[in-house]
Amino acid sequence: MIESTVRGACLCGAVRFSVTGRFVHFVLCHCSRCRKGSGSAHAANLFAPGARIEWLAGEAHVRRFELPDTRHLRQFCDRCGAPMPAHHPAAGAVVVPAGCLDDPLPMGPDLKIFCADRAGWVDAMAAAARFDGLPEP
Ligand SMILES: [Zn+2]
Ligand SMILES: [Zn+2]
Repeated sequence: MIESTVRGACLCGAVRFSVTGRFVHFVLCHCSRCRKGSGSAHAANLFAPGARIEWLAGEAHVRRFELPDTRHLRQFCDRCGAPMPAHHPAAGAVVVPAGCLDDPLPMGPDLKIFCADRAGWVDAMAAAARFDGLPEP
């Protein structure tokens, strides 16, 4: 697997970063913690063991939350709440939220995990009506 660099930013633009490493997995995690942390059906994270995070702007806005008595953690911008990359000791990797990347991703999703814990509405997502933008009023 080739080392690559991807760049991204938070929603408000205060935090900008690059991550350089070998991206070995792109994981969609359906566990309840990732659902609450993302506010969505699942987290979507790239995993890169031994990768480097370089904060290009706004490092002081990056906050870290570690859920007590678990290995779950997340980093986020303290202005806009957007998830940010983090060194994740339990995973032995840098974990990069795919949605905050501005560069093309080095790979597509290859793993869906904790599917037994998925939200009850996940299986209906594929049937939702699809629009390129907002639907007509
Ligand atoms: Zn922000
Ligand atoms: Zn999870």
